[in-house]
Amino acid sequence: MPESHTTTARTVLTEARVRLGEAGIDEAALEARLLLAHAMDVTPSALLLEPDHPVTTDEATAFEGLLMRRLRREPLAYLVGEREFYGLRFLVDQRVLIPRPETELLVESALAMAAERSAEGDGLLMADVGTGSGCIVVSLAVHLPGARFYALDLSGEALALARSNAERHGVEERVTFLEGDVLAPLPEPVDMIVANPPYVPSRNLETIQPEIRHYEPRVALEGGPEGLDVARRVLADAGRHLRPGGRLLMEIGHGQASEVVETAKASFPTAVEIDMVPDLAGIPRVLRVRLP
Ligand code: GLN
Repeated sequence: MPESHTTTARTVLTEARVRLGEAGIDEAALEARLLLAHAMDVTPSALLLEPDHPVTTDEATAFEGLLMRRLRREPLAYLVGEREFYGLRFLVDQRVLIPRPETELLVESALAMAAERSAEGDGLLMADVGTGSGCIVVSLAVHLPGARFYALDLSGEALALARSNAERHGVEERVTFLEGDVLAPLPEPVDMIVANPPYVPSRNLETIQPEIRHYEPRVALEGGPEGLDVARRVLADAGRHLRPGGRLLMEIGHGQASEVVETAKASFPTAVEIDMVPDLAGIPRVLRVRLP
């Protein structure tokens, strides 16, 4: 049966842009195009190049379903099932936090520290606490072909998705996935620990944007009254899990730097260096600890 072409991309996108805009979604035109491209299984740029691309009834129906979900504030990344991070495409869904651009600074800082030992990470053993989608550990594994990794998470569901992402980028043979709380499952000391713990103060979760509040896993976001519950546990436990000369890198939230640096100084009295890497906005974002 021939497919019926009821409309064009231009018509569908114009209407969707208005509806998204009225719902207060900022990048309405871009989001409409990304969702339609997903519904039609074409690239977003194909729709730009060919605005009068015909849209079948089935495609229009699929798009309407996605649009309704987006209007209910489901995050775009969950609707299209992917998010780019550090130049790689990661599968994402409601099992995991959507990778954030600021976390690329954690990856970059970890790669710089690893390079002090070996450009390819030869022989290095690293652990990622609270792996989630696996965006951190997989990015590190892609860039450090000589290193091995432990990916730790409380959520077995998150680890299943992280494993899919490791397979997608061909690094699964160098990553061991272990389920458990903070550093508890780690079976041996490592050269480097990286962590992006949940660090949003509990009360902030009530006012944070609905995409985050209603859809992303709370366990990946909520860090207790000050947002520091998990970060403090990482700081308290990391020393026991690091080899001599080991390093810890941890992403933290806005306004948490002085408290975290003080706690780190108390936890690592012999550290050679404890400092913070600022993000592009100048906010201290990544704690770095070097052990002797
Ligand atoms: N940066 C995230 C946010 O503001 C929080 C991520 C985290 O808790 N690690 O939504």
